[in-house]
Amino acid sequence: MDRDDFDLIVLGAGSGGLAGAIRAARHGARVALLEPGALGGTCVNVGCVPKKAMWLAAELAELRQVAAALGFAGAPGALDWPAFVARREAYIANIHASYRQRLGELGIALLPHAGRFVAAREIEAGGRRLRAAHVLIATGARPVRPDLPGRELGIDSDGFFALRAAPRRVAIVGSGYIAVELGGVLRALGSEVVLFVRGDRLLGRFDGEVSRALAGSMQARGVQLAFGHRLARVERRDVGYRLRCTDGSVSSGFDELLWATGRAPNVASLGLDAAGVTLDGEGHVAIDDWQATSAAGVYAVGDVTARPALTPVAIAAARRLMDRLFGGRAEARLDYDMIPTVVFAHPPVGSVGLGEEAARERFGDAVRCYRTRFRPMLGALAGSDERTFMKLVCVGADERIVGLHVVGPGADEMLQGFAVALRMGARKADFDATVAIHPTAAEELVLL
Ligand code: NDP
Repeated sequence: MDRDDFDLIVLGAGSGGLAGAIRAARHGARVALLEPGALGGTCVNVGCVPKKAMWLAAELAELRQVAAALGFAGAPGALDWPAFVARREAYIANIHASYRQRLGELGIALLPHAGRFVAAREIEAGGRRLRAAHVLIATGARPVRPDLPGRELGIDSDGFFALRAAPRRVAIVGSGYIAVELGGVLRALGSEVVLFVRGDRLLGRFDGEVSRALAGSMQARGVQLAFGHRLARVERRDVGYRLRCTDGSVSSGFDELLWATGRAPNVASLGLDAAGVTLDGEGHVAIDDWQATSAAGVYAVGDVTARPALTPVAIAAARRLMDRLFGGRAEARLDYDMIPTVVFAHPPVGSVGLGEEAARERFGDAVRCYRTRFRPMLGALAGSDERTFMKLVCVGADERIVGLHVVGPGADEMLQGFAVALRMGARKADFDATVAIHPTAAEELVLL
């Protein structure tokens, strides 16, 4: 068996792995990147990118209804789903090609194999032994389903991207990012959608009012939200899927079933024991504030850790780690505070910082919230009653803004700039002192 020496071996060429490999190579490191699947991992292939494409198509479908209400001639038709998927896949193929070119230019050795630790900094892959001063675990996560009869039926988010037509009636299990995003897309593209939620709210970790505002808007668009429905079993009959809940209630007649019940880290085949890398209680690779695992020279970023499972978080963490290891920046590490996030629901949800409940837990009575609900102009012109919801969560006498939340059209593009302001420590008075841009929805945030 050959043995090859590198400065860095990266396991997984998803968002975090690619960012780490590229940044390290730019600093002059000799890098091996191991990826048995498609370049780009979840985000590029079965996550952010194809999801955003579907979301954009769904937005257009909704806007065509609005246009008809406003007097544009011609009835909105259905999406030619296979033709749109061909465009989506062509877009993704371009990303693959651009990554491949960049890796080649930087002299990164891309090996199409899964790697397995044989020792802390020694990896076996495709019949070769590779050694490096540093190893980065960036193997991501995969969808999981609850342990109940019928769990093998239906599809998960990976299966969603293999669809070539809108299901007529779909049951979605879950209430997190993926459930509300795919539920919104499918509804806008013509499916009847029922979300089976075991608790009493959507997006459990978000501000409660945000979650209620989203629920109202989704219901207004015709998504059925079955709160308090804990599944007991699923069956497939001639007439479609049949879902039985623990309270005995039965729902049937679904021609698709989509599990959106969370994701689990990909660690099983890594041989972590051989490296002395330990896991946390939920099976993620345990890391410290510097992305370091329990084994010297072994690090982890992205969804395989318990940090927020967001592409830009994995990228930022990997880049800072490589700046520290190879770029002479001993202090470089990601600050996980104030990470903005957008849920591409219909309408989108943008959130940065703390929700009111979390802020009250931390700061008690020093918390003061400002909120508004209003009809955005396009919807109002078309006769819709739907409201945009905005909320600022402030703390202390100087009203430092520790949370900012938007549910409504444009929230996705509005949030980034406000996130900069919050990171810089913006006070409510800074927002008040900023002149509004009129007429926009975003201006409401400086007029509260
Ligand atoms: P989430 O953690 O967001 O949600 C998981 C959902 O599954 C929760 O609603 C949970 O309910 C529910 N659930 C778990 N077990 C069961 C069960 N047995 N029965 C019914 N419901 C169950 O996971 P997702 O898979 O939606 O997304 C994974 C992560 O990927 C997200 O947290 C996010 O970090 C990332 N992501 C980001 C996106 C973006 O940036 N726009 C888009 C998509 C994903 P409960 O609340 O009751 O626990």
